[in-house]
Amino acid sequence: MKDHTPDAPANPWLPVTLRLAGARVLVVGGGEVAARKVRLLLKAAPCIEVVALALNAELTALVEQGLIAKRDAVFDATQVQGCRLVIAATDDREFNRRVAAAADAANVPVNVVDDPAPSSFITPSLVERAPLWVAVSSGGAAPVLVRRLRERIESLLPAGYGHLAAFMERHRPRVKALAVEHRRALWEQFLDGQGAERLLAGDEAAAAVELARLIQGEPARGEVYLVGAGPGDPDLLTFRALRLMQQADVVLFDRLVSPAIMELVRRDAERIFVGKKRNQHTVPQEEINSELVRLAKAGKRVLRLKGGDPFIFGRGGEEIAELSAQGIAFQVVPGITAASGCAAYAGIPLTHRDCAQSCVFVTGHARADGTLNLHWDQLARRGQTVVFYMGVVTLPRVCTELMRHGLPADWPIALVEDGTQPTQRVMIGTLADLPSKVAAAAPSGASLIIVGEVVKLREKLGWFQPTSAT
Ligand code: SAH
Repeated sequence: MKDHTPDAPANPWLPVTLRLAGARVLVVGGGEVAARKVRLLLKAAPCIEVVALALNAELTALVEQGLIAKRDAVFDATQVQGCRLVIAATDDREFNRRVAAAADAANVPVNVVDDPAPSSFITPSLVERAPLWVAVSSGGAAPVLVRRLRERIESLLPAGYGHLAAFMERHRPRVKALAVEHRRALWEQFLDGQGAERLLAGDEAAAAVELARLIQGEPARGEVYLVGAGPGDPDLLTFRALRLMQQADVVLFDRLVSPAIMELVRRDAERIFVGKKRNQHTVPQEEINSELVRLAKAGKRVLRLKGGDPFIFGRGGEEIAELSAQGIAFQVVPGITAASGCAAYAGIPLTHRDCAQSCVFVTGHARADGTLNLHWDQLARRGQTVVFYMGVVTLPRVCTELMRHGLPADWPIALVEDGTQPTQRVMIGTLADLPSKVAAAAPSGASLIIVGEVVKLREKLGWFQPTSAT
């Protein structure tokens, strides 16, 4: 075992949170560096005094607003007396060290900005969700690593966590009536369940109702999250989608949801495949709707995960109409739709000032009787991009109709298979020749068709290199 002697501690810096209300804090320096520290201190310290020969515009304004006080122009050691903290923030390194020595002599904690050696405290890197703070520090060992970590934490913590913490603080008195051993369990249930989710979705009243139910010992209520999983690359999920994926008790997913995304669903969540493939409706829509209702009524947090965006050719509207009719709570999380994902990863902008002033999304899915009733005269137009979802099977017909309604045979068209995924393939051609190219390549993955002059831009704007395309 390693022996830690008292003068060689494993880590010489201990993070603490300090009460600054009612205490004086002295900042020596009046430039940008001092202002940066004052900005931070103002979040917690109402009584800040500045000693500086001159103050920059920001500090001058703060003095004028009465938010900080200008103490003296010239520093002397007696000023540190009675302060809870001292910050030396001038641009003179030696001078800063003299300030530090004076504070040390008076046993007042001191920080010299960007100079840990003479400092008795340093400020960590912070993520703020007031009243919540997350502090990251390496004791000055690796500031760049600390910044990275801070960014990651920043992206992990929903913006609403501050509201959540404030809500919990406000409602503590109600929960206090419970026996100590139940309080913690109750808050855990609240955080895991609909209460916290409602609050993060901005509905404080519903969160309070949920808390009241828990206090009365009623069982948690289920809810449904209708979530867009995007076109396949897991990096394109939204923060909210990921959070709900990691919370759900049960997930109903389509064929379009990529395995890489399913990896991110909570490990112990029950997985129900309700995938649909052309002409192979594994589970009829009505059955999916009633399954959602049944699971939510059993108190489950149900994740309905859909490829792309749930409100674009996703029948998301039908699913939540049923929930709404049954009084079940739900939320809808948008996802990146296939058109946006495929366009970006294929280097084909959907609009362009010169050649596409509008963009239309249409379905190329034929009805059961084989008809494809589209407004061809509106689709076969110059100056517009047309995106066909579910159009591989009908591609030859689409091309013929567009030419019949006036577009030239050499009009550009692309097919993007498995857009945004490592298996992505892009086939480029014209209305006249793409169908045969596609027939030869025989795409088996989800495929999107983009029609319009923007397709030509791919030559210059293509950037994505699929890793395992054949
Ligand atoms: N709600 C989805 C669309 C569902 S319809 C969304 O917003 O993207 C299914 C069709 O979407 C497929 O037939 C295909 O045309 C298209 N699609 C979905 N994901 C795709 C992908 N990764 N690459 C290419 N096309 C895709």
